[in-house]
Amino acid sequence: MNRIGGTAALSGELRRECEQTYFKLYYIYDVLNQLCLLGELERVPLRLNFDRNEERVLASANLFRIPWRRKPFCFIEIKLFPCAELSTGCFLGVMLHEMSHIWDFQHGREANHDKAFYDRMLRVGFDDKSMTFQENSLFARSINLIFRQRLRLKDGLNMLCSYPGTKPEWDEIEFYQAYLDRTLQLRRKQAAAGRIVAAS
Ligand SMILES: [Zn+2]
Repeated sequence: MNRIGGTAALSGELRRECEQTYFKLYYIYDVLNQLCLLGELERVPLRLNFDRNEERVLASANLFRIPWRRKPFCFIEIKLFPCAELSTGCFLGVMLHEMSHIWDFQHGREANHDKAFYDRMLRVGFDDKSMTFQENSLFARSINLIFRQRLRLKDGLNMLCSYPGTKPEWDEIEFYQAYLDRTLQLRRKQAAAGRIVAAS
């Protein structure tokens, strides 16, 4: 089914843009994890929320412990409309804040806005309360690395803002799986290239 202006092409384009935007968001997650959280976070699904309501929440970490599931489950929900207005630097701060909640959850701590929570971000140079960062810090290095990739994240988010409905019909878990598959393929390729170098 196509719900956008009756043109399948636009729907396909929007889906591709959505997948690319998700890949950019996962890349940002990976960079912040590696540089600011010692690579200690497991990847979690991300979910773009297309609701247009006026809530001032930018993003949230959703944490679940389900008795019959062996592993706790969590995901980060990003509200598209307020976040598309942010500068990319501020958006990275929002992501680090939510990832810090995920860190607490994955390390068995309560999800609180306590001193340990804010100190974790301060240690890498991001002051969450004032949304500012120190130059030459790990957070600044993350920003530089992400900017060098020319991700055009804001363009992607703005394009998705043009979607007229509340939520597109595709499933974000598919994008998560596609990203995991792609990173696995890349790792295999790198490992194979390493073996070739080692063998030569
Ligand atoms: Zn919070």
